[in-house]
Amino acid sequence: MAKAFKQPNPEFAKKVIEAGGNTLNLCFQCGTCTGSCPSGRQTAFRTRKLVRRAQLGLKDDIMDSDDLWLCTTCYTCYERCPRGVEIVDIIMALRNMAVREGKMAPQHRKIAQLVSRTGHLVNLRDEDKALRKKLGLEEIPPTVMQQPEGLEQVKKICSKTGFDKLVAEG
Ligand code: SF4
Ligand code: SF4
Repeated sequence: MAKAFKQPNPEFAKKVIEAGGNTLNLCFQCGTCTGSCPSGRQTAFRTRKLVRRAQLGLKDDIMDSDDLWLCTTCYTCYERCPRGVEIVDIIMALRNMAVREGKMAPQHRKIAQLVSRTGHLVNLRDEDKALRKKLGLEEIPPTVMQQPEGLEQVKKICSKTGFDKLVAEG
């Protein structure tokens, strides 16, 4: 039986370009990005493959794969790409599209929820407070952690922009 090939979806590829991936079609698949990617050294993530899928508009392959969330946005590939492909912008555009469809890696969702709840990406632990004190700093940093009115503003922004709903479970 003949193998079924995936059909390219130029409409989706066009949406990626319009969403910020305007250098997408400059990629000639040299693989420098994959060879440079620190995340790919630890995982099965292959940057070149993700870019190729985006060029072909293989939406389901992109949106339903963990790969999209394995980039740490270190920008190494971005700096090394011989074609000037703005790879991180493409990945960001794809992630934004995925989130709007309710798809997000659980770890990313948790961090986004933490930002909308606390104004910070990470919690302040007792060890962090102790270390700050040892360094002669205030135990609690002078951010929204110390300023309830600032935190209220962060929450207001997250609510008015719909960010909190966007990253909520389900
Ligand atoms: S380094 Fe640039 S041109 Fe080469 S595969 Fe990656 S994105 Fe494409
Ligand atoms: S920006 Fe992302 S894809 Fe590019 S090298 Fe860094 S981790 Fe890999």
